[in-house]
Amino acid sequence: MEFAPEPPVRDLTVADEHLRLGSDYKPRHLSPSSANLYQQCPRKWRHRYVDRLPDPPGEPALVGTFAHLVLEHLLQLPEGQRSQDAAKKLARDYWHEMEQEKDYQALGLTDEQSKSFRWKAWEAIAGLWVLENPDETQVHSTEHEVEVDISGVPFRGIIDRVDVVDDALVITDYKSGKAPLDRYRNRPLKQVLLYAAAVEASFGQRPSGARLHYLGQRTLGVRVTPSNLGAAVQELSATWSSLTSACETNQFATSTGPLCAWCPFLSECPDGQKEVIARNEAGSVRADAPGLAVIYAEAG
Ligand code: SF4
Repeated sequence: MEFAPEPPVRDLTVADEHLRLGSDYKPRHLSPSSANLYQQCPRKWRHRYVDRLPDPPGEPALVGTFAHLVLEHLLQLPEGQRSQDAAKKLARDYWHEMEQEKDYQALGLTDEQSKSFRWKAWEAIAGLWVLENPDETQVHSTEHEVEVDISGVPFRGIIDRVDVVDDALVITDYKSGKAPLDRYRNRPLKQVLLYAAAVEASFGQRPSGARLHYLGQRTLGVRVTPSNLGAAVQELSATWSSLTSACETNQFATSTGPLCAWCPFLSECPDGQKEVIARNEAGSVRADAPGLAVIYAEAG
């Protein structure tokens, strides 16, 4: 099966400047994006967070970042004012911020490509109305920062929205990538379940639900129960324990698979290169996978 990854979620800093490895080192925080990356491949985690190798966000991730920014400000407006016209005005108001971003500038877009970028961002923003009427949403908070101990793990994250539905809190997160098939829904939902655990630890109130708004597509939601919350927290604890042990011993295993063809650190990773070559020979790597260019350049 051909495979391409979703654009990465906006990363949250691990807040570990100048990471050192060894017995005296322990990361200070774990965010859902960092935990997810470590679960994907410990070596990839090391390259991003310890070695800090360049991994600039591509256009899809930046489109998502801009859509998030506009929706954040839209949902901060009072109910009754969250129209598409208001969203368009916010998009115009905040566009100059995106233009100043060095990651955006690094894309080197022509005027035509920049227009296309803005159109894609608008499609993502307007995609919220496919899922809900934001004018009727009861918002508790947006860009809600949590920094809390969850079962011994120093957890840190920023929640796009905490809503109030039927007098209970509901976690809502936006996604601008492609919605997963139903059989893959559990992994992305773990992120919002962790946010639910963080909100419970912060407010002493367990959210009743957690959901992912795949903009323009569909909403994946889950009722928060002691059982699914416990499973998400247990996995977080196991990841934290494995990660801290890897940092102490400086042993970061590779976890090869289809994502290697899209890994920004492929040139540093012989295991990943072997994997991509084997998959390519089996015809299971998409022609536009950046890893093919890396291998071709190194072979040539
Ligand atoms: S190429 Fe594959 S195995 Fe290597 S770091 Fe990247 S994801 Fe991990």
